[in-house]
Amino acid sequence: MRKQVLRTQISTETTLPIHSHCKKEVISRQSYHTASLHAIEMSDAYSPHIEIQPDVHLIRGMNNARFPEANCLLINDKQLTLLDAGASIENITATVRHIGRKITDITQIILTHFHVDHKGHAAEIQRISDCDIICHPLAQKGIETLDGTVEFYGIKGHRYYERWREMIAMRMPYVIADYRVTGHFKDGETITIGDTQLIPLHSPGHTEDHTIFGINGKEILMLVDIDLTRFGPWYGNLVSELSKFRESISKVIELEPSVGISSHLIDPVSENLDTRLKEYLKVFDTREQRIIKLVKEGKNTIELLSKVPTIYPRIPYDAYLIFEEYMLIKHIEDMAKRGIAEFDGERIKIV
Ligand SMILES: [Zn+2]
Repeated sequence: MRKQVLRTQISTETTLPIHSHCKKEVISRQSYHTASLHAIEMSDAYSPHIEIQPDVHLIRGMNNARFPEANCLLINDKQLTLLDAGASIENITATVRHIGRKITDITQIILTHFHVDHKGHAAEIQRISDCDIICHPLAQKGIETLDGTVEFYGIKGHRYYERWREMIAMRMPYVIADYRVTGHFKDGETITIGDTQLIPLHSPGHTEDHTIFGINGKEILMLVDIDLTRFGPWYGNLVSELSKFRESISKVIELEPSVGISSHLIDPVSENLDTRLKEYLKVFDTREQRIIKLVKEGKNTIELLSKVPTIYPRIPYDAYLIFEEYMLIKHIEDMAKRGIAEFDGERIKIV
């Protein structure tokens, strides 16, 4: 089996799951071990894609892959395959063109989970190429329609729901379409794409369906939304669960991968990956400690905590309060399970 471990510098880029049009950063080409990486064309001040293994290209999201963008992988093998479709359509198209192929040559899109920044342009690519869309069985409903997505988010009826819909209509109109899921992958069952193999590793917590992928083994992992950003883990949906998220990160640490590819960092992480993963895992505790402190100071409801805000460094749009609140609720539920906090009506009590 081909295996070529790439080496890149650690990306120190912070990625918040919020959108901002501000910063563009030039990435030094010298920072790459160039034997297996080829920076090809400049777009958005860095190359839209790099080859991370023979015929496996990382398509980078624009704006440093911050939400609503996310990186994808393009595998140019027997089947022209996309893993996720949430980078800009410009970067996806440029990458396909650079390797001498056309969008209509794409035969399958594998989706890591149902989130809008990951299913992204899959519906429009499917319309053009009639490709398959393959996902975890638990993802199907959330992928197929925006109503299904909303159901998994658990946000219908929230006072900021309409604001969220407005934001989607304005910034991600392409995800309002219906997606035709044509098949499922199974946890641990290798997907063979010519010479390239992807191993789906179901890693719930971020969402129930969230799946990471080993690329030609388990040393190089597409970590998806175990995203190693400074923001830390995100679990702001009905179908998110803290304890499962912790377990999934711990399992990745046990695998001792040499390279981790985040959906929201433009460079793969190879140096100090173990430390980075452990620091990422610690964010749950840091947030819990902050919640305990604030509750003791009198911020003892979800509303009061969300107004600080406690999880997000700032709330750029009202709609993000939905997710701030959800993440706080998930924390209190998790703490309640461990007997260290409880709800007394709306009030949170530390016990
Ligand atoms: Zn996600």
